[in-house]
Amino acid sequence: MIDSILETRGLTKRFGGLVASKAISLDLRQGEIHALIGPNGAGKSTLIKQIAGGLQPDEGSVHFDGKDVSKLSTAARARLGMGRTFQISSLAMEYTVLQNVVLGALGHRGNVFWFFNNVMKDAELLETADAALTKVGLEDFRNFRASDLSHGQRRQLEVAVALTLDPKAFLMDEPMAGLGAEGSQQLIGFLDTLRHQAPILLIEHDMDAVFSLADRVSVLVYGEIIATGTVDDIRTNSDVRNAYLGE
Ligand code: ADP
Ligand code: MG
Repeated sequence: MIDSILETRGLTKRFGGLVASKAISLDLRQGEIHALIGPNGAGKSTLIKQIAGGLQPDEGSVHFDGKDVSKLSTAARARLGMGRTFQISSLAMEYTVLQNVVLGALGHRGNVFWFFNNVMKDAELLETADAALTKVGLEDFRNFRASDLSHGQRRQLEVAVALTLDPKAFLMDEPMAGLGAEGSQQLIGFLDTLRHQAPILLIEHDMDAVFSLADRVSVLVYGEIIATGTVDDIRTNSDVRNAYLGE
């Protein structure tokens, strides 16, 4: 049996007459980076929202760590270990790096307001936050404002926020977006090590990133997965080349 932490079965989502997800079944296995690629509007973000719980599918189910989580809220799925980063940054730019991690950890626990009075006293929370910052290599930046970080460092900070819940898997929607060549290269190196902590379902436009990182690639076109395979499989797949890679 293949050891999958995450599995979708027949996820279907309609927006009026548009079918944004057509019976999508895919899985994420231990230790892997599974990239999800496809043109704009293919339904990548729609799929990840259904997995994370922000969007209810019309049909199908989501299984995580051996449980059917289809009826659970986003917060409940996060508590079970679904770590997530977003296409649009969710950081509080005016706060420090450390505060962002603590805020994130508290947000997960549903207790954001408590933060302002008590955070500097809660040793356990600070320890958790510092450990997460160390894991992503931002420990020397803890007192910088988030707005003073480079784009690449902000992505790492978002991962640190997600790490406070000790995730069993990561869902990432276009983490390379907005990064220059250097930032992308740095983030690629970072994700390459992060996969050993938890497998990653990676939505990504940047083909260099996908082809250098992914163990498996799924190609989504008009709400449908037209191919899943290794990087070599996908590069040489004629359906994929016609539909997407434009060769
Ligand atoms: P991708 O992330 O691959 O670019 P999306 O998942 O964002 O694609 O969108 C897939 C399709 O679903 C697009 O045609 C988009 O316009 C449509 N769509 C996404 N969200 C909604 C929504 N909330 N209401 C209506 N249509 C939507
Ligand atoms: Mg998207």
